[in-house]
Amino acid sequence: MTAVVAAAPFSFKDFLKSFMLVELLKGMALTGRYAFRRKVTVQFPEEKTPLSPRFRGLHALRRYENGEERCIACKLCEAVCPAMAITIESDVRDDGSRRTTRYDIDLTKCIFCGFCEESCPVDSIVETHIFEYHGEKRGDLYFTKDMLLAVGDRYEGEIAAAKAADAKYR
Ligand code: SF4
Ligand code: SF4
Repeated sequence: MTAVVAAAPFSFKDFLKSFMLVELLKGMALTGRYAFRRKVTVQFPEEKTPLSPRFRGLHALRRYENGEERCIACKLCEAVCPAMAITIESDVRDDGSRRTTRYDIDLTKCIFCGFCEESCPVDSIVETHIFEYHGEKRGDLYFTKDMLLAVGDRYEGEIAAAKAADAKYR
């Protein structure tokens, strides 16, 4: 059986528009209108847009000024994490204080909701302004306690400044 395809009715108006390149000229006019306006795009990575103090990027564990880690292993962050990305194990030190023996975040699971930071009673786990990082294999984005403390040590100045800038809105 042969299929019959009905031909579209001829439209002289459409033919004329096509012949005169109307759509092409309209497109070029639109491009021309924006060509000399102020640019709203930035040349990343040389140029960067400002970030909010509340920006939620790479995680870090912080220390107090005396070098003692802030985390008291209360596990609130682990409990609140909707992605179950945090794994904590803890033990009691000789001085009776409780500290983590393991604190891992699987960033392939993390949805960067910020709940862990919000729940922390001692401002230990935070999300920094760092977003330029990557992993080339799955394990590269599994951050251990040492890695998280190292991020905190390196960026403590920026983390403290962001906390201070946001404090009046809390
Ligand atoms: S930002 Fe959200 S998803 Fe990521 S570790 Fe914290 S609580 Fe979990
Ligand atoms: S990071 Fe904060 S919320 Fe999480 S276990 Fe340590 S003290 Fe508790």
